[in-house]
Amino acid sequence: MSVVVPFFIPHLGCPHRCVFCDQEKVAGSTGGLPSPDELVARVAQYAEKARGRELEAAFYGGTFTALPRPDQERLLCPLQPLLAAGTLNSLRVSTRPDAVDDDTASFLKEHGVDTVELGVQSMDAEVLGLSGRGHDAADVEAAVAALKKAGIAVGIQLMPGLPGDSPALSLDSLARVLALSPSFLRIYPTLVISGTELSRMYLAGSYTPLSLPQAVNLCKDMLVAANRESVQVIRMGLQPTAELEAPGVVLAGPYHPAFRQLVESELRFDQMSRLLSDVPRGSRVSFVVPRGKTSDLVGQKRENLSRVSRLFAAEVVAVREDSSLAPGSLLLEWEGRSMSIGL
Ligand code: SF4
Repeated sequence: MSVVVPFFIPHLGCPHRCVFCDQEKVAGSTGGLPSPDELVARVAQYAEKARGRELEAAFYGGTFTALPRPDQERLLCPLQPLLAAGTLNSLRVSTRPDAVDDDTASFLKEHGVDTVELGVQSMDAEVLGLSGRGHDAADVEAAVAALKKAGIAVGIQLMPGLPGDSPALSLDSLARVLALSPSFLRIYPTLVISGTELSRMYLAGSYTPLSLPQAVNLCKDMLVAANRESVQVIRMGLQPTAELEAPGVVLAGPYHPAFRQLVESELRFDQMSRLLSDVPRGSRVSFVVPRGKTSDLVGQKRENLSRVSRLFAAEVVAVREDSSLAPGSLLLEWEGRSMSIGL
């Protein structure tokens, strides 16, 4: 995996009004773009620590391709000699679907951008409308087509739980996105951040976020669907930061600092339940998991072991790891027999 050199660019006058976005912070974002010297110095700093691993510069935060073209050039041009010299191996930017067309895609490709992450959030017209996104599903399809035509990999971000959304609509959005064969997905269940329009809707009682168990279950189903299409989900749930975890920032919604692990554990619990339904109640069993997956199986605070004990009266006497097992598989051993299951 390459080392990411992150650059957070200010939102610089985003004209949109997405209900979940902290507009005050956006409007108050006065920081300028990094200078050419800052860009090069940051890459050099990361190159020293990378110890031979590949480096990818990634522009996060703003709507990259909605910046004036000279600003986009100011960010990309200083990195070109580093790409040519092999000090830097790839470039990635984030943007909105309606800020990409054929010309934009060609410009990005000519400037060495390999990957574009699109904030899609939903493919449902009503959800997009109620969320103030200002684009539709056709914009997403057109942006993905333009980027692929230019030879750029596309990552897609989805936000289940937006106003007007439901688990069925989220899964439908996912299916429509998977049909576009993205290179990867990020899934961020919607949170109510203070100061947003969504927080006003929440406080007025016109919006109810997903609960944590609802979000975990929905994201588990989304992960299974993505796995079936061999599309990697590279992140689930917002990264815990001091800013996000400051008191009063997240007003409501399914925030958990280890959200992904909750989803993976729920998936493992489903597998354990399916295997245990084929053995007599009260059995003493062992589980074998792929390398590094013991904590997913056991669950936070050993919750999965307590649940199988409650539901199946089963006693889990051992959990072992076996590096030869496929990533999604699970093996149950019971009275000298073994049974396995995949995702
Ligand atoms: S989330 Fe919406 S409002 Fe916020 S910066 Fe992005 S496009 Fe603009």
